[in-house]
Amino acid sequence: MKEKEQKIAGAAKEERQNHMKLEFDSRSENEGFARVAVAAFMTQLNPTIEEVADVKTAVSEAVTNSIIHGYEGRVEKIIIRCSIKGDELEITVEDRGVGIPDVKAAMEPLYTSKPELERSGMGFAFMEAFMDTLRVESTPGVGTAVHMIKKIGTGQWGD
Ligand code: ATP
Ligand code: MG
Repeated sequence: MKEKEQKIAGAAKEERQNHMKLEFDSRSENEGFARVAVAAFMTQLNPTIEEVADVKTAVSEAVTNSIIHGYEGRVEKIIIRCSIKGDELEITVEDRGVGIPDVKAAMEPLYTSKPELERSGMGFAFMEAFMDTLRVESTPGVGTAVHMIKKIGTGQWGD
């Protein structure tokens, strides 16, 4: 690519911005919907198959947590916000459920508050492994927001 073309491609990438918001019932059948919807939204970043698989796994884990732990099976609303800024995909999965009393402890690999349901306590560890950034905000009795960021398509852009 010539230098001028490279500059134009670089500028287009910097300026790219897009946003979407999804709200759906905390039913287990919507977990697949949420994961596919986010995957469809991110295709504009020209991701690799592996990057799509990583994001789908992270979204599944966060949504499953809202269904099982946040709402404990009650049917209420889960909200997903996705933003594209340049070559970064930012995802927030939010519930207004029971919240987490100790976020640091909950994020430890193998920690689960529901061993009786045969949970393995690996959800946050997967989100952390598959995304570049993971931040969890939670207030008991108010709800939980899981923020995740992943840089997409860097291999293909050669930087
Ligand atoms: P796994 O994801 O492997 O099935 P898990 O869900 O217990 O098991 P994590 O996803 O790592 O493991 O979550 C750890 C703990 O954090 C949960 O057991 C639960 O106590 C708490 N937690 C996670 N997400 C939420 C949420 N949205 N609302 C309330 N508590 C949560
Ligand atoms: Mg989990």
